[in-house]
Amino acid sequence: MDEKAANTRVTCLNCMDGRVQLPVLNWIRKQYKIDHVDVITEAGMDGVLASQENIDDIKRSIKISINKNKSNRIFIVGHHDCKGNSVDKKTHQKHIAKSVERLKKYWPKLEIIGLWVNDQWQVEVCFK
Ligand SMILES: [Zn+2]
Repeated sequence: MDEKAANTRVTCLNCMDGRVQLPVLNWIRKQYKIDHVDVITEAGMDGVLASQENIDDIKRSIKISINKNKSNRIFIVGHHDCKGNSVDKKTHQKHIAKSVERLKKYWPKLEIIGLWVNDQWQVEVCFK
């Protein structure tokens, strides 16, 4: 195995909804030439990161991804028709932006990118 390629790793904070997994993974791998994507899920991840006071469990997983697995980028995903965070698109995008800002306080040096999965299950960059 190519050692160098095996080190390209990112962290994806996604919803647990099965419909968004492959579109997001495929998009990230294609756009960023990534080999491995560490995925942390919650029902309505963008809503949890934007509104839930205690996110220690999520931070614990992010720390392992960054410190042990050497991830150098974080993606935060919100999506159309989310049952875990059933708000309109505009509110999702606010939540995604808020989530990015929140995690930037903990990891100011990492690139943190907000993604939106639209009603065609296509991935769009929505906050950076
Ligand atoms: Zn969802």
